[in-house]
Amino acid sequence: MTQFLKALAATKRFWDYRKAPKNRGVAIEITGTCNAKCYYCQVGQDNLNHVKSMKKPYLSIDDFRETVRYLKAHEFLKKGDRLVLYAWNEPFLHPEFSEIIKMGREEDCLMSLSTNASVRPKLSDDFDATCIGNISLSMPGFSQASYDKIHQFDFERIKSNVEWMVKAFREHGFFGFFVIRFHVYQFNVHEIEPARRWARSLGVCFEPYYAFINDARRMQQYLRGELPGEYLMNVSKDLFMERYLYRPNRQLHTCDMMNNVMVDSDGFVMCCCLDGTRMGRLTDFKTPEQLLEARRNSEICKKCLAILDPHIFEHIGFGGRGQFKHGLTFSYLYQFLKTCFL
Ligand code: SF4
Ligand code: SF4
Repeated sequence: MTQFLKALAATKRFWDYRKAPKNRGVAIEITGTCNAKCYYCQVGQDNLNHVKSMKKPYLSIDDFRETVRYLKAHEFLKKGDRLVLYAWNEPFLHPEFSEIIKMGREEDCLMSLSTNASVRPKLSDDFDATCIGNISLSMPGFSQASYDKIHQFDFERIKSNVEWMVKAFREHGFFGFFVIRFHVYQFNVHEIEPARRWARSLGVCFEPYYAFINDARRMQQYLRGELPGEYLMNVSKDLFMERYLYRPNRQLHTCDMMNNVMVDSDGFVMCCCLDGTRMGRLTDFKTPEQLLEARRNSEICKKCLAILDPHIFEHIGFGGRGQFKHGLTFSYLYQFLKTCFL
């Protein structure tokens, strides 16, 4: 298939996605492990403390297919919805990544990925990336010093992997958005502009946003003033936590994340991307409404809404609300044309 035909196939999927309602997300965690050591993430904390993940490291191709079909049959996943292939953890560690994407394409899904860019996924010769809508590249800064503090990877290797990914996925018909999600810490504010220039040179979108405590238990301890001293000391040196102290002047009873479905590599539904507590097996839920009800009645969500406004995540872009909306920007058009004329 030529790049032009691939572009047409991708456009059709994007068009279906444009028309689909955007009030919920569907995620399947294809890997149960991550290789980074991010201090403010619950997975990274486990890695730092040598706590082995109890989840299946990888979702098998058969389990992936079965999960997608269940989600479709029970209307969790509808035509035009985006299927996210991560929650926490690193999707490119999956040894059969190409097969997962192939299976998703056969099930007519538009997929979405996020990576720490530490590993290059093995792409088969016939790998078809037209069914991927966006790939986020998470970066904790733009220097070895910043990487030493958070991800603990070789910075030059990461840059070279990102450059490889942009080229390789484009060659395989990826017409969606590459987005560098730059995590802003107190120690890396001066690295935003060099990173932005590098992103522009690659023709990828750039979204800086304030890093946060990606761990519901510690986040709530922070808001209650109960964080252990050493952790609190690090938070006050590294993060811009005043962003999270915002409270609405009314009691909240719901949040947008309650509409989401997040299935881990063992087939359990997790509460949300702040709290990975399992709500039950996916097959215990027969309708999206049943899952929503379970969340509304859960102690986790009640406790969370009593102390945090989850909508705050719409405001954490470095530069204000609306930061995360990317559309037909010059950056995207540049990428698109570059792909067509490779
Ligand atoms: S923040 Fe992402 S990259 Fe870092 S440890 Fe957690 S899952 Fe891995
Ligand atoms: S209320 Fe809190 S715990 Fe519940 S889904 Fe929303 S963010 Fe997650």
